[in-house]
Amino acid sequence: MQLNADLTGQTVLVTGAPAAARRAIRRYRAAGATVHTLASPADFRSELLDGVVVVAAINDGDSGWLPLPETCRRRGVLLVNEEAAAPGGRVTLVGGGPGTDDLLTVRARQALLEADVVYFDRLAPHRNLTVLAPGAELIDVGKQPGHHKVKQADIENLMIQSALAGNNVVRLKGGDPFVFGRGGEEVISCAKAGVPVSVIPGVTSAISVPAAAGIPVTHREVSHMFTVVSGHAPLTDDEHLHLAGLGGTVVVLMGVGTLPQFTAGLRRAGMRADMPVAIVERGYSDSQRTTVSTLTGIVTAAGAARVKSPAILVIGEVVKLAHGCKETAGRLARLADSVGAQ
Ligand code: SAH
Repeated sequence: MQLNADLTGQTVLVTGAPAAARRAIRRYRAAGATVHTLASPADFRSELLDGVVVVAAINDGDSGWLPLPETCRRRGVLLVNEEAAAPGGRVTLVGGGPGTDDLLTVRARQALLEADVVYFDRLAPHRNLTVLAPGAELIDVGKQPGHHKVKQADIENLMIQSALAGNNVVRLKGGDPFVFGRGGEEVISCAKAGVPVSVIPGVTSAISVPAAAGIPVTHREVSHMFTVVSGHAPLTDDEHLHLAGLGGTVVVLMGVGTLPQFTAGLRRAGMRADMPVAIVERGYSDSQRTTVSTLTGIVTAAGAARVKSPAILVIGEVVKLAHGCKETAGRLARLADSVGAQ
């Protein structure tokens, strides 16, 4: 049975060894309760229950706590049994998906529940973290485009120091940690420092954000491959040539700033001028928007629409398949007309 109780201003006694009780203590504090703690059954005195509405009994394996439920019953104090916090001293890199809580995996949610500290990014689903990670200290290390709020080396250092201090550290990232997420670097740093580290994959924006706009990245007889490219820095002509030569779908992340160079490069490499292109901004948010044009028209269209990061660029015939998406369908109809007229 689950009860949703308002504990604001109420006194809660958390019993159990500090390592086992640490997360419950933070959770009750975060819920607005006045938290008293009792680490050892040997120190129990009946007066400790005066004014207490809830005893959170953490199962730390000490048999000395066995009489506590009966004492609480006699005193009319509610007792809640809770499992001990999972052992700390480790880092979990968690892929948070493209920004909404409901695209977090079950495993990601479990890791957040067990976290002592969460270091989160701007594109990770962070708005509801007080609920998703109720026992955790929440630290925003988010990066605004162009300037890093906390430097990568500092983030790694903070995570490692926190894990070495005994915490169960979650590093919550947007999408998947290993897709342009610097997850590999963080794994290496933790391993070098001797901190156990694991990775929970996430729903990458490279596939899910096109899907949010009704665009499948592959489609039978239309595209049997897709390439995911970082637009953070312009590509070389050689790379444009290879990409254009593949004939599949091209998905670009972090590509708003380099859009003119990228599309011009693909044109030089021989890609058709009327190749459909879509830019999907802020996937899965209330302000999600899709701008559709052709390889040669997209720079003007993006400028007119004042397209901004975060956005995914999709180049390929699959863009035409976004029929399910009303917004895109209308633009596609106009695009087909204009392409026909060229
Ligand atoms: N690891 C992430 C990508 C990090 S790079 C992943 O797997 O999704 C950051 C880029 O991802 C952004 O510049 C943007 O191109 C893209 N992105 C992430 N979330 C997005 C969203 N909700 N809508 C549009 N683009 C998004």
